[in-house]
Amino acid sequence: MIVFQVYIVGVFVTFANAFDYVVIGGGTAGLAVASRLSEDSSVSVAVIEAGPNVEDLPEVFIPGLFGLSLGTSLDWQYTTVPQQNLNSRNITIHAGKALGGSTAINGMIFPRAAKQQYDVWGALNNDTSWTWDELLPFFKSSELATPPNQFQTDAGVRFDPSVHGFTGRVQVGFPNFFFEQAQLWEKTVEGLGFQISPDLADGNPHTVGIAPNSINTANNTRCDAVCAYVTPFTNRTNFDIITNATVSRIIWSNDTSKDDGLVRAVQVEYILANETTARIPVGREVIVSAGTVGTPKVLELSGIGNSTILRDAGVETLVDLPTVGENLADHVHSWVNSFTSLNLTQDLLLEDPSFLTEQLALWSENRTGVLSAIPSSLSIIAPSDLFNASELDALLEQSRASLTEMANSFSNGNENLAKGIAAQFEHALSLYSQNKQLPLELNLGSSYVGPSALSQRPNRTYTSINTVLYAPLSRGSTHITSSSPVAPPALDPNYYAHPLDIAMHVAGMRLARRMLTSPPLSSTFLGEFEPGAEKTSDEQLVAWMRANVTTDQHETGTASMMPRELGGVVDTNLKVYGTQNVRVADASIIPFPVSAHMSATVYAIGEKAAHIIKSGK
Ligand SMILES: Cc1cc2nc3c(=O)[nH]c(=O)nc-3n(C[C@H](O)[C@H](O)[C@H](O)COP(=O)(O)OP(=O)(O)OC[C@H]3O[C@@H](n4cnc5c(N)ncnc54)[C@H](O)[C@@H]3O)c2cc1C
Repeated sequence: MIVFQVYIVGVFVTFANAFDYVVIGGGTAGLAVASRLSEDSSVSVAVIEAGPNVEDLPEVFIPGLFGLSLGTSLDWQYTTVPQQNLNSRNITIHAGKALGGSTAINGMIFPRAAKQQYDVWGALNNDTSWTWDELLPFFKSSELATPPNQFQTDAGVRFDPSVHGFTGRVQVGFPNFFFEQAQLWEKTVEGLGFQISPDLADGNPHTVGIAPNSINTANNTRCDAVCAYVTPFTNRTNFDIITNATVSRIIWSNDTSKDDGLVRAVQVEYILANETTARIPVGREVIVSAGTVGTPKVLELSGIGNSTILRDAGVETLVDLPTVGENLADHVHSWVNSFTSLNLTQDLLLEDPSFLTEQLALWSENRTGVLSAIPSSLSIIAPSDLFNASELDALLEQSRASLTEMANSFSNGNENLAKGIAAQFEHALSLYSQNKQLPLELNLGSSYVGPSALSQRPNRTYTSINTVLYAPLSRGSTHITSSSPVAPPALDPNYYAHPLDIAMHVAGMRLARRMLTSPPLSSTFLGEFEPGAEKTSDEQLVAWMRANVTTDQHETGTASMMPRELGGVVDTNLKVYGTQNVRVADASIIPFPVSAHMSATVYAIGEKAAHIIKSGK
């Protein structure tokens, strides 16, 4: 039974019966875990989600309207503290506040990262169950793939069925149209020496290709976590979803004596839109899936975290776990954009109201046109694409020399976490020296993409190259500053705090420029708009980047899966240290950032979490 709204009168309301599993956050991983657990009809599962069900909103289900939900009530719009290395700017990190979480508002790009990066998760934990090989079954079980048709194959889509799932949940397919500039760009990148990817989900993404999308290709609509894990199962009477309900904290048992001192969750407290507070009893477990910013907030409000931070916020400490909210990593997004001689670009959707009307009609009539997909051509960059061997050696040597100092500086004084971050850096530098750490994604924007508002840029057509830092070494944090569940956290991704991040990113900007001005794409190039051709030195480029870059909304790591002696928050069964029955399943458990758009990876985490719980670990 799916309950999208509960109507409760009074201040404290307790459900009569406990739910075996209470999932906090009905987002990407949360719905995957909840739906999989509810396959067992003998258990009851409740999901508590802060946002509404928005599956009937055109800006959600029409792929090409991506972007319209940003800055609305469907978006948490988390704001960072002033970023020291970005001219003290506050950056807005978007995240879905709706059933489906960020998959209800994201760009639907659905690739996977490099095998070796997932293997670092296992290595950090000395546990081979968290490696590419062991995650692949969960990538597959999350996926209901539709292979490309002849038109898509002719357009350049490559697909390796051996790495995909065909009986899973998230509908994955390919666009039914492609912009001319994307096809020119792929040829350009190939001409620069890149291999064409056999499949961007095969764990070897150092290539160029057309990414899969999370899309229902039968009707060209977005397939988010609701489409995948809720809609097909509305007849389950053991699967309840409470929307518009913000969890304020977990309530613990007073009696810890029989549980080896581990605290035991017995209720979850939440606040409804009408400000009524309610509690839901927990039979077996709580799974926190509130996302990389939301999850540490819920843990800290519940008394699990750094006791000094909790005391200052007015929260009593139940478990002193000082690394909650630390190890925050995020992908940094920059651009090189240029004027193009091509007439048909996505710019027309914003610049020409009649074009938008025409495309909406096309989508409604037969699900075609530029609104019917978000075609994404991308290349994942290796260090050898950016530097010669001696340049790279010099950069890596500097990072080795400062390794301990940098790890300490990112650890908030916690010796264990300093060791954990140092271990991550060792892995990163080792992968760099094997050309396997992939620092950047360059993807093609078939329109203007950049920092200037519509009114501040020439009304022309554009080709842009999104240049995204994918293997950051900078680490930040997010913490509550108040016991109020509605107060925003102090969110500090600490962008560009590690010098290697800046070196990689600026080299990526140069490569993006090379792509725009190399044949055959160069035949459409009518001059760079931003950063601007006059900015030629690294110093000028970096100055522009500090003033303009933003986030790719791929934040990870704030409830990291690492051993406690390396500053972890959860173990490899995703259990929060110091608790008996609370786990985390979402992007926050990712201990070491990976070079991909995150949703496919987060779904795999949700699938694996359900598997772990079902197997009684
Ligand atoms: C604008 C945007 C574009 C993106 N584009 C892509 C893309 O193209 N491809 C890709 O793979 N990835 C993309 N991503 C990233 C990807 O979508 C996320 O990394 C991933 O979905 C995160 O999953 P999650 O389960 O960790 O969190 P979420 O999916 O965000 O789920 C967290 C859920 O918890 C809820 N919640 C939070 N706090 C509380 C609380 N106190 N009480 C109750 N509920 C709460 C939230 O409302 C949300 O529903 C994008 C993200 C954004 C925001």
